[in-house]
Amino acid sequence: MSTMTLQNVGVEIDGHPIVDDVSFDVPAGTWLSLIGPNGAGKSTLLKACSGSLPHTGDITIDGRDHGRIKRKERARLVAHMPQRAMVPDLMPVFDFVCLGRTPHLKYLGTESTRDLVVVRDLLERLDLVDLAARHLGSLSGGELQRAVLAQALAQQAPILILDEPTAALDVGHQWTVLELVDKMRTECGLTVIAALHDLGLVGQFSDLVVLLDHGRAIASGTPAAVLTHERLTSLYHAPLHVDVDDNGRVSIYPRRPNPTTNQGSHHD
Ligand code: ADP
Ligand code: MG
Repeated sequence: MSTMTLQNVGVEIDGHPIVDDVSFDVPAGTWLSLIGPNGAGKSTLLKACSGSLPHTGDITIDGRDHGRIKRKERARLVAHMPQRAMVPDLMPVFDFVCLGRTPHLKYLGTESTRDLVVVRDLLERLDLVDLAARHLGSLSGGELQRAVLAQALAQQAPILILDEPTAALDVGHQWTVLELVDKMRTECGLTVIAALHDLGLVGQFSDLVVLLDHGRAIASGTPAAVLTHERLTSLYHAPLHVDVDDNGRVSIYPRRPNPTTNQGSHHD
């Protein structure tokens, strides 16, 4: 189990601040969702968290500066499913998922029985068994997204960074995928940091939410504290309805104003 801590993290691209002074703590075994409008800086921040973009400020894993952790060890600690994965079109799904085991292999080593068990189990859980021999280039968007997630999960790192993991999935697979991640969180103490587009899913799966806008964290806390009707409607300019249940889970869905009520109030 591992904790990730960000203190005053900033990322500049071509001299422009894209992420600015962001601080938060993701305790071990917690699911933190990163939300915010398009272009808010979510993907950029997640790349800094995974070590694939340079940053200012401090990012630590269990108190260790993550920039000082060697690449291979960091890959055993942090798995990152990017929003737009670069994949070799001609590679079969099975081989691609096996690549997730690389940080666990000895130099020039081949997969052990254990590695293959992990991969086969993930193919099954993510509904990819029938696609195992197919080339990545032949998959649909949602199938490819599940293969990319399978590779990240095969890494079995204690910190899992997901960048819009369900964006291309139908509603059934969205739930399968997020329930699987949540099961691994409760069973193995996985720490999850996920940029999620769908606020409905954010309200159901998160322990903590950080709201990013123009690169800055403008709100953070429990879903019920962050995902308020006022905040969401003013930020997204959409008529979002928010319900909080007794467990603190938040349901959010768009609801257009009733046309009759609207007309009535117009004449008030
Ligand atoms: P989000 O994931 O929240 O939609 P991103 O982190 O992808 O946002 O991008 C944040 C902002 O940074 C956007 O305005 C985007 O255009 C810009 N940006 C990201 N990467 C680059 C880059 N390599 N060069 C220039 N601008 C970039
Ligand atoms: Mg993004």
